Amino acid sequence: MAPEDRPLLTPPDGHRKVLLHSCCAPCSGEVMEAMTASGIDYTIFFYNPNIHPREEYLLRKEENVRFAEKHAIPFVDADYETAEWFRRARGLEWEPERGARCTMCFDMRFERTALYAAEHGFAVITSSLGISRWKNMEQINDCGRRAASHYDGVSYWTFNWRKHGGAARMIEISKRERFYQQEYCGCVYSLRDTNAHRTSQGRPEIEIGKLYYGGAADEPGTPARSSPRDF
Ligand code: SF4
Repeated sequence: MAPEDRPLLTPPDGHRKVLLHSCCAPCSGEVMEAMTASGIDYTIFFYNPNIHPREEYLLRKEENVRFAEKHAIPFVDADYETAEWFRRARGLEWEPERGARCTMCFDMRFERTALYAAEHGFAVITSSLGISRWKNMEQINDCGRRAASHYDGVSYWTFNWRKHGGAARMIEISKRERFYQQEYCGCVYSLRDTNAHRTSQGRPEIEIGKLYYGGAADEPGTPARSSPRDF
């Protein structure tokens, strides 16, 4: 879908300033370009203490920084609070994706996003997380609304970034920019489960830092990924 197919975006209550929680460059690329095209004044908030290991975290963050700099978009690099993430994940290690551990994970990331918004004059927060078709949009929206509800004057924008061709443009932009292509959701448990699934299919385990959009794996004739655990 061409960029001109994007609808004109209107954040809640006519606000023009938005704090965008970003999980990675591939997911936020289309969200960023769509907001830019609608003249929205937005800032990236990168807070993802779920991503494991650190090497993968830095790769995802650096790709996002590179793209933000290209578009001259302010980028807030928040803490990598892995100890707190693992503390909250205790007892949830064997939860499936889209389950209780993911609710915890979204809650933690959005709580920090909403706090930053309240402290820095952003009336609207939203996230790139929902653009992935492997995610439960309602689960993400519930977490976003819950985090925003703790602060007067902050609301969570539930716009569905997948629609109006957004999901297709996300892939097009990722290929155009040759973004690093993560192959699992992010946490150590999603890495474990994705590797177990790949092994059961006779496929090699994930090699961090290896795959980029627009590379050989995207050439015609390459088999599509076969599991919702593969990103
Ligand atoms: S699978 Fe993804 S969303 Fe769920 S806890 Fe792990 S990193 Fe967070």
